[in-house]
Amino acid sequence: MAKRQFKSESKRLLELMINSIYTHKEIFLRELISNASDAIDKLCYISLTDDKVGLTRDDFKITIVADKEKRTLTISDNGVGMTADELESNLGVIARSGSLKFKKEMDDTAEDIDIIGQFGVGFYSAFMVAAKVTVVTRAYGEDNASKWESKGADGYTITSVDCEHRGPGTEIVIDLKENTEEENYDTYLEEYTLTSLIKKYSDYVRWPIVMDVTKSRQVETDEVDDDGNKKKEWEDYTETEVINSRVPIWQRPKNEVTDEECAEFYKEKFFDQTDPVSVLRVSAEGLVSYKAMLFIPGAAPFDYFTREFKAGLQLYSSGIMIMEHCSDLLPEHFRFVRGVVDSQDFSLNISREMLQHDRQLKVIRTNIEKRIKTELKKLMESDMDKYRLFYKAFGVQLKYGIANGYGMNRDLLADLLMFYSSSAEKLIPIADYIKDMPEEQKFIYYASGENIALLDKLPQAEQVRDKGFDIFYLTDEVDEFVIRMLGKFEEKDFRSVVDGDLELDTDEDKKEIEQQESDNKDVLDFVRDSLDGKVAAVRLSTKLKSHPVSLAAQGEISLEMERYFKSMQAQQGGDMFGEMKAQRVLELNVNHPSFTVLKDAFENNKEKAAKYAEVLYGQALLSAGVPLEDPSEFSELVSSLLFG
Ligand code: ADP
Repeated sequence: MAKRQFKSESKRLLELMINSIYTHKEIFLRELISNASDAIDKLCYISLTDDKVGLTRDDFKITIVADKEKRTLTISDNGVGMTADELESNLGVIARSGSLKFKKEMDDTAEDIDIIGQFGVGFYSAFMVAAKVTVVTRAYGEDNASKWESKGADGYTITSVDCEHRGPGTEIVIDLKENTEEENYDTYLEEYTLTSLIKKYSDYVRWPIVMDVTKSRQVETDEVDDDGNKKKEWEDYTETEVINSRVPIWQRPKNEVTDEECAEFYKEKFFDQTDPVSVLRVSAEGLVSYKAMLFIPGAAPFDYFTREFKAGLQLYSSGIMIMEHCSDLLPEHFRFVRGVVDSQDFSLNISREMLQHDRQLKVIRTNIEKRIKTELKKLMESDMDKYRLFYKAFGVQLKYGIANGYGMNRDLLADLLMFYSSSAEKLIPIADYIKDMPEEQKFIYYASGENIALLDKLPQAEQVRDKGFDIFYLTDEVDEFVIRMLGKFEEKDFRSVVDGDLELDTDEDKKEIEQQESDNKDVLDFVRDSLDGKVAAVRLSTKLKSHPVSLAAQGEISLEMERYFKSMQAQQGGDMFGEMKAQRVLELNVNHPSFTVLKDAFENNKEKAAKYAEVLYGQALLSAGVPLEDPSEFSELVSSLLFG
């Protein structure tokens, strides 16, 4: 019996499999089960027109047997089988168009080996766990069976075996590799491992996957207890069971599946203890036909904001899970969504030639994006409590969607946003803010800072609130970028109560302040000059009511953004944001007693006036939540003024 050599391309792939340190070796079982299922599909199809097959739909099955003594795992099916020639051409070479490309990617970098888990590699994956693989197969319509044996890269043999009693089908026997320190191959003989793997990867294969499982039952013994009843004891026995559930929940008609069932399915499948806030079912036909069941979680997984979190939907093709985290199906800004997508249009080949399906994936992704948006909007309108739960967990993700997309996703995401309203004292949608705006209010006012309490005391906010206008208090670092990307909402401009012209004054007010500024020009210039470059301008403000001073910024960079850049710099080091400093403007309240005192000193004692200027600037920094550059110097300054 001559040993045959693998075709060179196959040999390379095979070597990779044999020496694989790949962490998902377990997928070999999925691959062999999928092949078995395909083979049954073929024979089942033949049986529709050929009654010589002698099997009905109910007879087909895939059988898994683990033999702990021999350390073998056997996967058999009663599908179409292979002739000797087919064995040679199917298992002697990887006869598939995608394989070259696949191999190239494997060669490029070690990391690309992850491709195994994503793309599926078929029969050869058995060598990740097998020291030897034996395939005994009888093709439908043939009298003889053939046996293919291989211990790996040095080749394989094919012999003819006599087994007339055997119907068509294939039996694959895996002799497991020896255990090593890193890898315990015996695990693939454990009932628990096998049933878990079947459930994980092949739960929805439409043919039954059967296995002997251990059960226990109570039996009566001959012994009798004090009351004269026969004593009972537990006894183990084995029973052949169908392990896979076969009909996936997302394939069942909507009206047959309750919300509770969906929630249960979600929690079990995605390891969440919290009910989802929404379940979305999609059944699409057209360019690409698919069914999807999507979940919007009610809480963020503990690792959601870390690199460890894997976003993406589970991709099924004809009941077989081919990808656990297909991120191509889900836009980044909705990465919190979990669920499954099942499409027959990907049947047979997707696992191997995924890349060719790019266009189909895009179609699905676009549809799904729309559906998620609609669902979230609906939730916001119909069940605000639930929406708040969702928003608490993932609102920041939506904001990043806008900030990172440089406005690209503005129309999609803007109306899902909520900010803290100073008057409602909770998060509200922007549309609700606008709905409650008094007629004379022109802008959507906002203030950003470290926390709500601080913002509530902001000198500039008082006047806006006194007018009966609401203010959005922004406390997330990303918020101000989001506002800038939004620009407007429903034709209304956003306006910062700190930096912007609030346009609250009447023409008369404006004239008056202009007059006062020109009357006091020499004081204002003096203050600016004595602050020696710390502020770009000194103005008289109309925004301040009871406060003596406030700090604003002019130009592109706000105080809040300066703070953000600073914290980025602290985190990342370097001097990337060195120049990102706000141009400060000191605003003085002309009606406050402090201004009279300042003016008086300016006229009579310039040295004192300069000290007042420093103190006022320090106060402005403090109330804006900006730290003083030199607190002890400031404290000395205050003492010297108060106590001489
Ligand atoms: P793929 O499934 O991508 O074609 P595989 O290496 O997994 O690649 O299998 C190669 C071929 O071998 C299959 O296309 C099929 O024709 C045949 N084959 C594999 N397993 C079985 C089986 N259990 N029964 C019948 N034919 C099989």
